[in-house]
Amino acid sequence: MYRTHTCGELRASHAGQTVTLSGWVHRRRDHGGVAFFDLRDRTGIIQVTINPDLAKETLDVVSNVRFEWVLQIEGIVQKRPDGMANPKMETGEIEIIAKNVTVLNPAKTLPFMVSTDTDLADENTRLKYRYLDLRRERMTRNMVLRHKVIKFMRDYLDEQGFIEIETPIMFKATPEGARDYLVPSRVFPGQFYALPQSPQQLKQLLMVAGMDKYFQIARCFRDEDLRGDRQPEFTQLDLEMSFVHRDDVLALVEDLFTKMIPAVTPNKKLLSAPWPKFSYLEVLEKYGSDKPDLRFGMELIDVSDIFAKSEFKVFQSALAAGGVIKCIVAPRSADMSRKEVDALTEVAKTLGAKGMPTIAITAEGVKGSAAKFVTTEEVEALKSKTGAGVGDLIVFATDERKVANKVLGGLRLWFRDKLNLADKDMMAFAWVVDFPFFAYNEESKAWESEHHPFTMPKMEDLPKFDTDPGEVLSDAYDMVCNGYETASGSIRIHRRDIQMKMFQMLGLSDEDIQAKFGHMLEAFEYGAPPHGGMAPGIDRLVMLLADEPNIREVIAFPKNQAGRDVMADAPSAVEPKQLKELHIKFE
Ligand code: ASP
Repeated sequence: MYRTHTCGELRASHAGQTVTLSGWVHRRRDHGGVAFFDLRDRTGIIQVTINPDLAKETLDVVSNVRFEWVLQIEGIVQKRPDGMANPKMETGEIEIIAKNVTVLNPAKTLPFMVSTDTDLADENTRLKYRYLDLRRERMTRNMVLRHKVIKFMRDYLDEQGFIEIETPIMFKATPEGARDYLVPSRVFPGQFYALPQSPQQLKQLLMVAGMDKYFQIARCFRDEDLRGDRQPEFTQLDLEMSFVHRDDVLALVEDLFTKMIPAVTPNKKLLSAPWPKFSYLEVLEKYGSDKPDLRFGMELIDVSDIFAKSEFKVFQSALAAGGVIKCIVAPRSADMSRKEVDALTEVAKTLGAKGMPTIAITAEGVKGSAAKFVTTEEVEALKSKTGAGVGDLIVFATDERKVANKVLGGLRLWFRDKLNLADKDMMAFAWVVDFPFFAYNEESKAWESEHHPFTMPKMEDLPKFDTDPGEVLSDAYDMVCNGYETASGSIRIHRRDIQMKMFQMLGLSDEDIQAKFGHMLEAFEYGAPPHGGMAPGIDRLVMLLADEPNIREVIAFPKNQAGRDVMADAPSAVEPKQLKELHIKFE
């Protein structure tokens, strides 16, 4: 028997018991002939004391022991002497007085320390030795949290009458807006499976099959450029329901998350219940983003009316060109240095602004680049509309509405980070609804689906399909949190005629439609129920709950930022024989 207990479970109530533990040497200290090991396993850490009165063979063994050796220890649980307890350790009231020490496996000197939560190695080294990186308490915490999140989802959905159904990984292309990963077939030369970008088609077919209330902890594969915080494969809570409208799906997911957050992370607060719901247009107007961070205010305010008769050229020409004058009010920023304002102006320019007029409200009057061009009445009107007061900096965007929103949306986040405006323990969930159905791709001069091509348009907008595609709204919805899109979903098309029309709008030929989606269209002819669902991303959610800066920290074996697995070195070349079997030749 390797152990009678785990390292993390022992408490003062076990005092006096003889126990056997197995684990890794987390730390080692030597003190006047006594050696202290912190022994660690997944459940926690406990102090082991090796007194010099042990057998010589045991002491010889102990003298060699280094970090991360795997030991088995037999000893007696003892309360630590008064004043020696360590309140920072869960097992800090006790120690194990060793009687026997067995080395189960020694360890080489490690490439980095695992007994610290701070990253002492660069990320590629951490990923190359991920099995060591995961030994660190922080990473263990992340894995346990991820498990708790997924378990909560499973239990909750089970209680609500959902069933978990697995769907194939090798399937046919399922568009979600990215490139597909393809798997060549050995048996059918020249033919390929595609890895699903999501189980979208399959879950809809499950609805046709009558498998109402489906869910799956689903792996999705998208061959995208790995800019920012993306992974080629990621995990979603994929779910689908029949005979539901939008608000039925939203209510279920909102209830799930509202109950889950306090259960898995009691330190996190929810901004509000019920969650706010914004239309796509509203959210752009107010926050300059379709995934707003609602943990702080600083809403975008349209002040075009105040400057309708302005003498200021920049304001005049923006309005004359049909644009707007909008602003945000940054608190405690009236005294921002010239250098900081210049840096901020650069940020504004990368977001598309031509310039960045400002007005700083100080006790000595107004300052800033636009100060000398505005009248006292305009300043007073500004103050009353925006609520700005002494100490505030008003930052303007003067452009067409879309650009102004984007610029101020970006600057708003810049101020969030600079001024620490967002509470890191707040989870500010909200819904964004009423998205446009189509997006016009200027390059290819074609309409594309804004969500994915299986999304239902608002029924009342159907007549505008041919006349005003840009005006059609979709029955899609996003869940956002703290500036991230944390889920998206929609009511789906369940009628063949509408689905057909959708594919045609996207410029697919009839042959293409048949070859790619014939099975869906056919299924819709056999009594497809109205249905809808969504797919909250699990990686990003756990990242937010764990206070981690990127999703790689909450995935056991992620690819690095270049999309490589640096531990196993994948992707990698394969044997010529394998290529031959797959009928593949390189050019
Ligand atoms: N397929 C998802 C849905 O349920 C969306 C996504 O994967 O982004 O609508």
